[in-house]
Amino acid sequence: MIDDTRLIELINISKSFGDTHVLKNINLYIRRKEFVTLLGPSGCGKTTMLRIIGGFESADEGQLIFDGKDLSSVPPYKRRVNTVFQKYALFTHMNVFDNVAFGLKLKKPEELLPGEKKPTRRQIKEEIKRRVMRMLKLVKMDAYAKRGVDQLSGGQQQRIAIARALVNEPEVLLLDEPLGALDLKLRREMQLELKSMQQQLGITFIYVTHDQEEALTMSDTIVVLNAGEIQQIGDGKSIYDEPNNAFVANFIGDSNILEAVMVKDYEVFAAGRSFECVDEGFAENEPVDMVVRPEDIMLVGEDVGMLTGEVKSVLFKGVHYEMFVEAAGIRWKVHSTTMYPVGSRVGLTVVPSNIHIMHKMADEDAYVGVPIQKSEAGQ
Ligand code: ATP
Repeated sequence: MIDDTRLIELINISKSFGDTHVLKNINLYIRRKEFVTLLGPSGCGKTTMLRIIGGFESADEGQLIFDGKDLSSVPPYKRRVNTVFQKYALFTHMNVFDNVAFGLKLKKPEELLPGEKKPTRRQIKEEIKRRVMRMLKLVKMDAYAKRGVDQLSGGQQQRIAIARALVNEPEVLLLDEPLGALDLKLRREMQLELKSMQQQLGITFIYVTHDQEEALTMSDTIVVLNAGEIQQIGDGKSIYDEPNNAFVANFIGDSNILEAVMVKDYEVFAAGRSFECVDEGFAENEPVDMVVRPEDIMLVGEDVGMLTGEVKSVLFKGVHYEMFVEAAGIRWKVHSTTMYPVGSRVGLTVVPSNIHIMHKMADEDAYVGVPIQKSEAGQ
């Protein structure tokens, strides 16, 4: 269960490398026991944000608060934080057990056994063994304790790297694309395992990825970043259902994004016609982005659709068909379990609640890579 208290707070954090403004005034809080994912395209600044939290990088401006105290000048080894990188960096000359035990052997006896006045070497050894084996069990590697790490697969090595970080009982675990090097099947398995470990141990996880599916699978909270700025913070469902802008709509899931004009409350003009929608509070005739998810477009008879068009391509995607339908000068991406052959004439229809209206993004750069279709809005 996520605790309601704020464990980490980033307040007005900014960072530049030379002329590149990598993080622009970031404000974010992370609660105790929360699984937070920093999600965004390559170069958006997510690793830099993680490195600032870990203490490997310092911010140019702003404050980093940990448990109510300013951490900005506290070095990494004094933070109650541990990191797992994409490259596992295990000690290849040590076996699995010794890799995991490494950090514990550096601890003072009284840290390992706080209840004992003068612990014996045997007691210390036993305690280290107990803790290491507990972690190896957790990552399902207890049968491999005596193996050399170079005899392990990539997935097994990453499990050891995670056990090595967790054995120190950090309050926060930072994970920088830790599953990036694994194949898809193993990645999916590990995603579920990581999530269950996080819940069992009650540790706060801050996870970096560019993979939206990974973020949706694991996170309590997703922070969507683009060009050094937070675009949206929320749980997976709210970000998917109610994206803040065209970038988020495009990055999380598939979308048809059209240039449109908000005629008045509950009426938007795009693709040469007016659509009823559920949005209000925009200026009259304000240029907006209109987003419709491919699964929200219904293909119907030509005579009953809001628009009529022709199926241009069909691709079977396992559960549904992905079709491109050309209608009113727009190439609509449509997902449906019913297949309409290429060349068929169809009607398209969307219910008002599935039309999402978004303010235009202020920063032109934010549109890089977002496929906006020019429609006949307002002409
Ligand atoms: P990726 O997924 O590719 O790692 P990212 O979102 O994690 O991307 P960052 O690694 O935070 O992005 O990098 C953001 C930008 O800052 C990039 O343009 C990168 O080249 C630049 N950058 C990062 N670290 C440094 C550094 N130490 N010196 C100079 N530029 C850097």
